[in-house]
Amino acid sequence: MIVAIDGPAGSGKSTVAATLALRLGFRYLDTGAMYRALTWLALREGVQLDDGIGLGALASAHAVSFGPNGSVTIAETDVSAAIRDAEIDRHVPTVAAHPEVRKVMRERQRALGSAGDAVIEGRDIGTVVAPDAEVKIFLVAAETERARRRTADRPGIEADRLARELRRRDERDAINTRPAVDAVQLDTTELSVDEVVERIERLVEEASR
Ligand code: C5P
Repeated sequence: MIVAIDGPAGSGKSTVAATLALRLGFRYLDTGAMYRALTWLALREGVQLDDGIGLGALASAHAVSFGPNGSVTIAETDVSAAIRDAEIDRHVPTVAAHPEVRKVMRERQRALGSAGDAVIEGRDIGTVVAPDAEVKIFLVAAETERARRRTADRPGIEADRLARELRRRDERDAINTRPAVDAVQLDTTELSVDEVVERIERLVEEASR
């Protein structure tokens, strides 16, 4: 079974998807980490971020891999911490916007997802990567709450600036962030992680009957 969890930054996707995968005993695939790792490598290699063909080639040449402890590796480098940097937040939508990049990433994500039960989180999972997913969730949350969550993830950056950057990233990602017509939309603003996970678990149970 595939559980697709999509939504904008700060909607609670990562925490919810990782917790859900653990509880269900499913594999967990963080597709955002793949775009982040490619962005990190492009900056290191000096590939221009407006060069779709060059970035597509870079993505083809360097697969992103995930360790059992959730570590993220590209070009033989553990980038688990580096890809959470604010500089990557700022550049990743530029990289992720190129059709050449998305083509490579989506194929890899389908291959990784097809190896059995998985929770896959991202922005276009229910619509494009896994349109046949048995359970599709689209998480949303109020902007103030999303900015508050981000502040906890990015200590050292002033709250107003984080809120502005989050809004800007959302706008740039909007074209690839859409709920599937058959997705269940959940507003996480006032829900705890456990409450969200429990609701999705119930949907998974219903889908397995
Ligand atoms: O989810 P996360 O914030 O880690 O995603 C980082 C970036 O990767 C997003 O801002 C977006 O540009 C891109 N992304 C995407 N499609 C996905 C997942 C992430 O375009 N399925």
